[in-house]
Amino acid sequence: MEKKCYKSFFGIGKAVVERVFTKLRQNIPSPKDLRGKHTVRPNKLPDNILFQLSAHIQSFPKCISHYSRQDNNEKRYLSAELSVHKMYEMYIEKYEPDIYEILINGRKAKPIVKYPYFLKYFNNNFNLSFGNPKSDTCQTCDRLDNFINAELNTDIKLSLIEEKQIHQKKAELFYADLKRLSLESKENTDLEVLSFDFQQNLPLPHVPCGDVFYKRQIWSYNFCIHSAKTNQAYFFMYDESVAKKGQNEVISFLHYYLQNLLQQGVKTLYLFADNCSSQNKNNALFQYIYTIIKSNAFGLNTIIQRYPEPGHSFLPCDRCFGLIEQKKRKIERVFLPITYQELVKQTNIKKFHVINVNQNFIYNFSDYLKPFFKKYITSTNKVKFTIMAYRCIEYTKEGLLCSVIPNSTAKEHYTIEKSGSLLKFPMENLPLLYQGKLSIKAAKLKDVLELAAKYVPPQHLWFYEQFVETNDDTVLSDYEY
Ligand SMILES: [Zn+2]
Repeated sequence: MEKKCYKSFFGIGKAVVERVFTKLRQNIPSPKDLRGKHTVRPNKLPDNILFQLSAHIQSFPKCISHYSRQDNNEKRYLSAELSVHKMYEMYIEKYEPDIYEILINGRKAKPIVKYPYFLKYFNNNFNLSFGNPKSDTCQTCDRLDNFINAELNTDIKLSLIEEKQIHQKKAELFYADLKRLSLESKENTDLEVLSFDFQQNLPLPHVPCGDVFYKRQIWSYNFCIHSAKTNQAYFFMYDESVAKKGQNEVISFLHYYLQNLLQQGVKTLYLFADNCSSQNKNNALFQYIYTIIKSNAFGLNTIIQRYPEPGHSFLPCDRCFGLIEQKKRKIERVFLPITYQELVKQTNIKKFHVINVNQNFIYNFSDYLKPFFKKYITSTNKVKFTIMAYRCIEYTKEGLLCSVIPNSTAKEHYTIEKSGSLLKFPMENLPLLYQGKLSIKAAKLKDVLELAAKYVPPQHLWFYEQFVETNDDTVLSDYEY
């Protein structure tokens, strides 16, 4: 990859134009001449070109979605700032540089690999998508649409249509509940509605240059808790050396919120979050919430967790993230986490608050709570506890009331603690999750330091030089390449 910063085919500087003219004067082969060198059948490119295409597409860092892990989906995600067209432009820049020079000058040229071919190749040979997995369209809707369109038997077709309607009704019901309860929380002192989620990772360094797409970057994480009652949003921000994006982080942030930010007088708390099992829907979180209710902590009598239909999980946090993303697009360069923190605050000075996360308030709740709770849970009706199926979980002193269909009277009752367990709050001798800086995989750190050396001004380099590397393969982050 060239050192030159990447813009687009249209945003070109004077130097580029001059270079193109120089090349033209030097009688560099026209695109027509180039094409003549290959005997290309209309729909089949030579193997070496196909190899280049494949190598190019594979050269971009990808991440696994934590949403798709549970349905064993092989889909991988590329940077949100990429697109197929941008990848195509970068391909031409790299492998057909003469054509690239002509194209960025706004002139016509015929590359060996044309965009429609590239697009088709990308779609047929890779299972890749861009950006936040959550902004994807709903997989259930897509799958049902495909079946409905392909089905010839009228009866089956109708039943599929009905299935889709039921799915969408449930999705609407989630949004209706969120809206109704949010409005009610503004009037009712007893009631609070919190929603929470992670924003898509913010990269460091953030520079408008093509080679960041080929290199791994340091992530800055942002976890939001939004209050419907006050319409205030709190952002827990930190980088990879401080903590990860796991269940204990999520519980610790909630714990911090309940301890320091919960409005006085709240007795009933609704929690809205998506179905991501590694963060928002797991035993440790259930055990933590149950312990609160069992011991009347924070003055809370009832907590109700409400989960959406997968694929339809747009929360107030996501609206906040959207505003932050908009603001971020206007900033070309970010070198330090503090700049992202400033950006978040500036997005809405009256409503957005940043909490700079440090390891002193991230606890190992999962290990701490485990001994108090049963490993295998069945209800009073002998129904197995199936965590992912529930859309609504109500916590009472007597246990959990879980329902697959929200607002229905069909609830299973579960006792989750071992008999004789004494659940206490505050939790005594709660251990911290981390001691000291987290290390970064050696290969990733190499990428980061290369980028930093090239683009980061000397006064900010300290941030990149403080990371500790590891060769330990068991070091996993939520976004693994
Ligand atoms: Zn759907």
